[in-house]
Amino acid sequence: MTYRGRFAPSPTGQLHFGSLVAAVGSWLRARSQNGAWIVRMEDLDPPREVPGAAADILATLAAFGMESDEPVMFQSRRENAYATAFARLDAAGHVFPCWCSRVDLEPFGGIHHTCVAPPDPARAPAWRLRDDAGDFVIRRVEGWYAYHLAVVVDDAEQGITEVVRGADLLDSTPRQIRLQQLLGLPTPAYLHLPLALDPEGRKLSKQDRARPVDRADPAPALRAALRFLGQHVVGANDVATLLSNAVTGFDLAALQTVTKTGACTIGPDSA
Ligand code: GLU
Repeated sequence: MTYRGRFAPSPTGQLHFGSLVAAVGSWLRARSQNGAWIVRMEDLDPPREVPGAAADILATLAAFGMESDEPVMFQSRRENAYATAFARLDAAGHVFPCWCSRVDLEPFGGIHHTCVAPPDPARAPAWRLRDDAGDFVIRRVEGWYAYHLAVVVDDAEQGITEVVRGADLLDSTPRQIRLQQLLGLPTPAYLHLPLALDPEGRKLSKQDRARPVDRADPAPALRAALRFLGQHVVGANDVATLLSNAVTGFDLAALQTVTKTGACTIGPDSA
């Protein structure tokens, strides 16, 4: 089977060191398997998106020597596929309408096991999938299909054989596997990368305006990302050489050791 990996950023801001690590980790793994690397733009959440961010992310990836092997898929254009999957889950009785708010679920640690808010025909509901570990939203109050459903439908559509992404998404994985099973879709392999944290121990995030990586001078951040992934860094200042040496010397075991060690912090200057 041919390896197919992906990088799936949300266009909520510019690429920062944490998202660069996910891009480089997934790219390296795909290339070291002679596989394809595909970029998917997860633009499913208009209120959180920043105009121009999708184009900016793609230009930054290109400056770092990483370009999608296939046309970039935009989730905002995939509503019909998500609607079909949703209808199948609904027809099989796996989903239910829910009016519970985040505040309603606070006493239960944010986990939904049973509805606490009564049905309110005057308001649109969210739609949840029943799950022993907590029922989760697959269609939002605003009508948009939610992240878990979209990811599962798209990973299958794109024939992804392994998902390489940040450890912040670890608890998404069992939910996505459950959705794959209910929809009769294949389950890819999963590899979760260590998370880049700020000096206070928080995950770097685009919404918190983590400093964007510098695409005018990509080599320092690329070297830092490779080191962060436990890889031996060989090469000087051009990204093509750094990347091709990293593919040749790719060390999956080193990467997994980093993952087991857990959180790694970066100082403000290491990116
Ligand atoms: N779009 C998600 C993010 O930027 C990643 C989704 C995934 O890799 O499954 O956090």
